Amino acid sequence: MSTATVHHELASIVGERHCVADAALLEPYLEEPRGRYHGESRLLVAPGSAGETAAVLACCNRRGVGVVPVGGRTGLCGGTHSQANEILLSLHRQRRVRDLNAGCLTAEAGCVLATLQERADEAGYLFPLSLGSEGSCQLGGVLSTNAGGIHVLRYGMARDMVLGLEVALPDGRVLSDLKPLAKDNTGYDIKQLFIGAEGTLGVITAAALRLHPRPRAWITALLGVADADQAVALFRGAQSALGEDLNAFELISRGAAQLCGVHLDGVPIPGDIDAPWLLCVEAAGAGPEELLAERLAGFLEDAREQGGLLDAVCAVSEAQREAIWRLRHGVPEAVRRSGPALRHDLAVPPERIADFIDSALEVCRKHFAGAEPVPFGHVGDGNLHYSVPCPPDVDPDRFLEQGRPLSAELRELAWSMDGSFSAEHGVGLMLKDELERLGDPVKLELMRALKRAVDPRGIMNPGKVLSA
Ligand SMILES: Cc1cc2nc3c(=O)[nH]c(=O)nc-3n(C[C@H](O)[C@H](O)[C@H](O)COP(=O)(O)OP(=O)(O)OC[C@H]3O[C@@H](n4cnc5c(N)ncnc54)[C@H](O)[C@@H]3O)c2cc1C
Repeated sequence: MSTATVHHELASIVGERHCVADAALLEPYLEEPRGRYHGESRLLVAPGSAGETAAVLACCNRRGVGVVPVGGRTGLCGGTHSQANEILLSLHRQRRVRDLNAGCLTAEAGCVLATLQERADEAGYLFPLSLGSEGSCQLGGVLSTNAGGIHVLRYGMARDMVLGLEVALPDGRVLSDLKPLAKDNTGYDIKQLFIGAEGTLGVITAAALRLHPRPRAWITALLGVADADQAVALFRGAQSALGEDLNAFELISRGAAQLCGVHLDGVPIPGDIDAPWLLCVEAAGAGPEELLAERLAGFLEDAREQGGLLDAVCAVSEAQREAIWRLRHGVPEAVRRSGPALRHDLAVPPERIADFIDSALEVCRKHFAGAEPVPFGHVGDGNLHYSVPCPPDVDPDRFLEQGRPLSAELRELAWSMDGSFSAEHGVGLMLKDELERLGDPVKLELMRALKRAVDPRGIMNPGKVLSA
């Protein structure tokens, strides 16, 4: 059914000015960050409340019109891609912080992540979810993709930060489970099903989020190591030396760091550390700062004595700390600017990272003799963003197409090592065939049964995560 047939009815729910059918205004909603897909929807609807959202869904359900929820549109798997006969449903009008008290922030799904971090900070708390896209991505999007980021090793993934959830369902009901409770064992934890569902079951309209004490002291260092095995050994050492205060432990291959120097303005390697692998390590705690610095120095001293550490520089000013993080956060953009690249969001258990990196290099060279992968990622979660830029002797226009078998083999490799082919970005449109190919059949069957139970007409984000 065409979206024009529901336009009038939807306008009666949200108001005509919150229905966008103008092609020029719709255009930004049809793009996605990597330019891989271009959507075709001709109608965007922006409800102003959970009740209006549910009414929009009920109308689309009756008429059999597909609904594609959109947040900040920073997702990397084509999750907001739309067909001409589907509506886009934007939560941007629902961006109120409903409540903020000790330990809990209740906010609407259209809030931008950075705004929530700021609101928590102003109140003296920490909302620790932190991603490169935090200035644009929205709460509904980060929960629907169960986003990760740099603090997973300490605070967990997005789902670990949720105490309660409000969701509009395809049949027009609202699941209201916003109680700010850490403990509630009254049956199945239904809210968790909607987190990471990428909009295929319902529309998240609000969440009660767990807040943490705001650290009073930070210490950040950039380390140089010879190989990935050393990186993981140092991670385990840092865990036992710094305990709960270990805030981030990020891995950057030298190739990835060098791309920052070439493609981004003024992003050198701090301390000119000359090593095959760099580690961005941060500890944060209740202070005092000198004590934290002493513990980090002790850990570095031990690592040096044991021969695992080639070089290290500790930030002694906020500017130096920012320079280290600029390097880490700059890598995805530097890879993007360097030209076509095959990108993979893989995970293996941390102790298998080095094995994976060795085997993956062989796989890359088998397909393209001149391949020089530039991995980077989160050591503590075993999450590697494994990018393979187009080698100089390969036609850039044909590289992405020619690289498909290589990507498939890298995903299989991670899977065969008890890993994942999508650690934190989700499945969306891009990886649903891989889920079908590699996923556990029993899990897939349960997912389909759940989808049928909650969304029997299949209107929620059609064709994403699961094949129709
Ligand atoms: C520069 C950059 C850095 C990034 N870094 C990270 C990172 O470190 N870690 C990480 O995990 N990801 C990262 N990402 C990926 C992306 O930012 C995350 O996936 C983010 O969670 C998406 O949020 P969004 O609001 O942009 O969602 P969108 O892209 O708008 O949507 C993502 C999915 O969620 C669905 N959805 C959106 N809102 C709702 C809702 N209210 N209810 C139900 N479904 C909804 C959409 O239909 C879609 O399937 C990065 C992306 C970029 C561009």
